[in-house]
Amino acid sequence: MNYLKFAGPIIDDAMAEAVKQTLLSGWLTSGPQVLAFECALSDYHGGRPTRVFTSATAAMEVAFEVCGIGAGDEVITSAMTFFSVGNMIEKVGAKTVFVDCDLTSRNINLDQVERAITEKTKAIVPTHFSGLPCDMDRLYAIAQQHKLRVIEDAALAIGSSWGRGSQQARIGAFGDIATFSFHPNKNMTTVEGGAAMFASQAEAKRAEVLRFHGITRLADGTRDVDYPSGKFNMSDVSACLGLAQLKLLDGWCAARQKLAAHYFAQLAPVAEQLDISLPAPAYAGEEAGHSWNMFCVLLPLSKMTISRKQFIDAMHARQIGIGVSYEAMHLSTLFRNHGHAEGEHPNAERIARETVTLPLHPSLTTSDVERVCKALIDIVGTNQTQHQPTFQNLAA
Ligand SMILES: *Cc1c(COP(=O)(O)O)cnc(C)c1O
Repeated sequence: MNYLKFAGPIIDDAMAEAVKQTLLSGWLTSGPQVLAFECALSDYHGGRPTRVFTSATAAMEVAFEVCGIGAGDEVITSAMTFFSVGNMIEKVGAKTVFVDCDLTSRNINLDQVERAITEKTKAIVPTHFSGLPCDMDRLYAIAQQHKLRVIEDAALAIGSSWGRGSQQARIGAFGDIATFSFHPNKNMTTVEGGAAMFASQAEAKRAEVLRFHGITRLADGTRDVDYPSGKFNMSDVSACLGLAQLKLLDGWCAARQKLAAHYFAQLAPVAEQLDISLPAPAYAGEEAGHSWNMFCVLLPLSKMTISRKQFIDAMHARQIGIGVSYEAMHLSTLFRNHGHAEGEHPNAERIARETVTLPLHPSLTTSDVERVCKALIDIVGTNQTQHQPTFQNLAA
């Protein structure tokens, strides 16, 4: 039986050939391939000012710096997201203000965002969880009303969209700033890499400076630094891979959507009986074009005789890889040291305890999905404390 990875990139011969040609071209670091990749990404996102970086984390750090976010500022984000968000808020010297997420969409709770806004708030950082967009209409209405920047953590949302019919637009094609990841587990990869769409050409130009030591050129040709920035420029080797991947992205997203639909078809009929929570399929009315980077379910651990670790091991024994996304960020040692504790964000904490990510990537087949569902139903069903009454004990 083949091992089913929970995520995984697709590298074809044409991509390997493109990388080889770049390696032999005599230009390895940021150069013509980076420019071409940025143009292609910008085209894909309605012509927005776009720059690439060594990771989404780097893109977010630079985005905060471009917005002038730092000491004395507050940034509101969800407790249910990847560590990089809180890390970068703290790294630029700002204060992370956590709010809870919605239990089903796993996206930031916008009611709580409104309540968390103070005169120190500079920005909202919502994560499009697993590629399902946040309510963009409401998010931007709140940001506009309170004159806040929005830096969308769109790490998983390349290929996602918002709006219906002629109003439909890709995540990153509108709004303020959006940051994307090209880590191998995301919907397309540059090995490591990230991108950001900025609000103006001037901000994108500033990001170019900040991704390369903060170096500017003076009129006399000498170099200067006005901000102690890091080094986050993407290599041409990564960029040429990204160019080739981007061409196939829409097909891959369609394949993911089909596999996600197959998961729903298999699991929806038994979800209530087994007490497993499925992810939100998309919002009612299908405003949210879902990139389906992850398919996360919540296990009924309080009714199970095995731990999540034992569940994951049991799936692994059946050659099925399982991921866990994410931990509740406010409960990391970093934020516990800032005084955060259990009970502050119950939805995020519950998701962090119970979530498992099932295999989902375009190399899977629908029968692979059936194999995963059968294993899940079997392991959860045989390890529940409250067994369904059988004919025998009904008769007794
Ligand atoms: C992967 C991920 C990131 C970080 O992306 P990198 O490119 O590895 O820095 C940030 N946010 C979310 C939600 C992610 O899943």
